[in-house]
Amino acid sequence: MDLPHPELGEAWAAGRPEPRVVHLDSAAAGRSSHAVQARVARHLQEESELGGYVAAARVADELAGVRADLAGLLGAPEVVFTGSAADAVAVLLRALPVPAGATVLVTPGEYGPNLTLLRALGWAVATIPVRDEVGHVDVPALAELLAADPPALVHLCPVGSHRGVVQDTVAVVGACRAAGVAVVVDAAQALGHVDLAATGADAVYATSRKWLAGPRGVGVLAVAPGFAARLDRPVAELEAAEGFVAGRLGLGVAVAEHRAMGPAAVRARLAGIGAWTRAELDGVGGWRVVEPHDEPSATTTLAPPPGWTDDDVAALRERLLDDGVVTTFAGPGRAPLEARAAVLRLSPHLDVRPAHLARVAAALT
Ligand SMILES: *Cc1c(COP(=O)(O)O)cnc(C)c1O
Repeated sequence: MDLPHPELGEAWAAGRPEPRVVHLDSAAAGRSSHAVQARVARHLQEESELGGYVAAARVADELAGVRADLAGLLGAPEVVFTGSAADAVAVLLRALPVPAGATVLVTPGEYGPNLTLLRALGWAVATIPVRDEVGHVDVPALAELLAADPPALVHLCPVGSHRGVVQDTVAVVGACRAAGVAVVVDAAQALGHVDLAATGADAVYATSRKWLAGPRGVGVLAVAPGFAARLDRPVAELEAAEGFVAGRLGLGVAVAEHRAMGPAAVRARLAGIGAWTRAELDGVGGWRVVEPHDEPSATTTLAPPPGWTDDDVAALRERLLDDGVVTTFAGPGRAPLEARAAVLRLSPHLDVRPAHLARVAAALT
């Protein structure tokens, strides 16, 4: 298959260390570039040379630029850094005054740990209607539900952790806006992967390490002004006093690399990679691709042949790892309202090659 933008695949590979594995696991943690690593290392050295607070003061302008770039990618202007995506949603929702027992609407594919958080905060969780068996939101049915019985909040994962299905975030946010319901977006799997720049969401949060391939240990939260006014404190106060400054600078480099490649070109190539991966692997060894083949994401999940248990899938993932192929075992706990059984998740980045998928195909047969 001819993938769009072969130059991006070459640049991605040339810009980072030669992998010692076949890395098909960007949805867990992307491989950082030489430049990202160098920026982190340089700041750590400056912290040692000057003291951490003096070093931080010297990069204030650079960090302001990183926040501005992230605001553009996430589509909301006020940006704070956190330690992770999980951290970001926790600080945001704890600052949102809501009546006890308020309802939050989520898709059936909602990320398991988010459900745990929502319930711990006292929210009642209800689900958004979907229009097919892979969990695409039924937007007209959502609009009806919002009109009949408006929730206090909608929480949406444009891409979940358990499959490569992409939600029409613009349409979902549009339906919520029309009903006057706020929308918080979990972009952990979407940032650097699918377009978020103009969704109009009230708050969007994500993590550095996945599709942007920034450093681990950095998360980000972007808030729109109207929603900021509803919080019990200024957005800036949602940022912890202590944080991984070097990692934030490294994320800034990853964002700059993403912008230089062209986000639209990156998305087009990643979508092409998803379609190609699915075409190559569907049916191999009796494994079935879960997503529609043309779903515009690079994440492919494979359901095992009949009779396989979740433990069997976990064992296959370990066997692949022993063989030097890094994938994810995605158990049903990642989306407990929707997933019934474990899948093998493949999340190649721009540099994937035919030989990589051939290694997976060999292991599946
Ligand atoms: C990875 C992931 C998260 C959590 O991100 P962290 O940075 O590990 O907290 C949240 N939601 C989804 C959909 C994810 O895939």
